[in-house]
Amino acid sequence: MNGEAAVRAETLRGHAAAADRFSLLSRRGRLSGTHLFVGPADARADAFAVRLAKAVLCLEPRDPLDACGRCLACVRFDAGSHPDFELVRKPEDRSTIPLDAFIGDAGHRMREGLCWRILLRPALSRRKVAIILDADHLSDEAANCLLKTLEEPPDHAIIILVGTSVERQLPTIRSRCQLLRFRPLEASERSSPPADPAEEEFHRSLRSRFASQQLRGVELAREVTSWVEAAGKEAPARRARLRGVMETAIGVYRQAMRASGDDDQLLDRLAITIDAIEWIDANLNVAALIDAWTAMLEDPRIAQSPRLSQTA
Ligand SMILES: [Zn+2]
Repeated sequence: MNGEAAVRAETLRGHAAAADRFSLLSRRGRLSGTHLFVGPADARADAFAVRLAKAVLCLEPRDPLDACGRCLACVRFDAGSHPDFELVRKPEDRSTIPLDAFIGDAGHRMREGLCWRILLRPALSRRKVAIILDADHLSDEAANCLLKTLEEPPDHAIIILVGTSVERQLPTIRSRCQLLRFRPLEASERSSPPADPAEEEFHRSLRSRFASQQLRGVELAREVTSWVEAAGKEAPARRARLRGVMETAIGVYRQAMRASGDDDQLLDRLAITIDAIEWIDANLNVAALIDAWTAMLEDPRIAQSPRLSQTA
């Protein structure tokens, strides 16, 4: 794979989990509110945010993440003149995003800027979308103004902050956002490894397990744990194996949903797995994560409250 193709594949693969999550939120009518995307620059969370915004604003989207590209909203979005879209970022010659971008300049305080404009009713689309890039560089002053908006965003608003790490966000901001991590591919995933017959066989048996209605959590946990531990002592190798297992599960649930529609149990299992995959990099005990994940797959009610994602 040449360099450019590798980067493209990396972007798509890294975004698959994000795409799943937003399709799910959209199906459940929970797209509104405030989101925090974090990831290194090459994970291209910014590109995903813009794609999502365009699809949300599109008047005839093909699916929740796929704008039609032809309607008036799409045309104006591409021209940079959509009245329901706000985007702010740090100018190159500044160390923070200027306060004016949020609340207007001195002559128009609270009558301009993102915090004011997001309150207005949508003019062309059904919602308003605001993207705040370079969220690592919010001044305290700007963050304070933004907090009020994040506390009570209007129902029509979707606000997305994009930064490089959770640690660089103010806790007050972080606690008001739904977190979504973006990651670049690990070195081992950059080129496609030669097919390993043992791995193929294991994943084949996994697929039938995930597809069955009566999922035996304890048994599944035991199998997955020994597969993951057989990768060796190194944590990255173990995590890569676990990620592979969870991606297989996601593939099974997506396929089943295409075949049978929005079945509640499938949606729950998909949501649980999407949440769990984000915990792989969180330095948890891998065996404990596998136990929790498989228990929730067996009985999704365990996951209803408190949700994994809300304790992240
Ligand atoms: Zn469109």
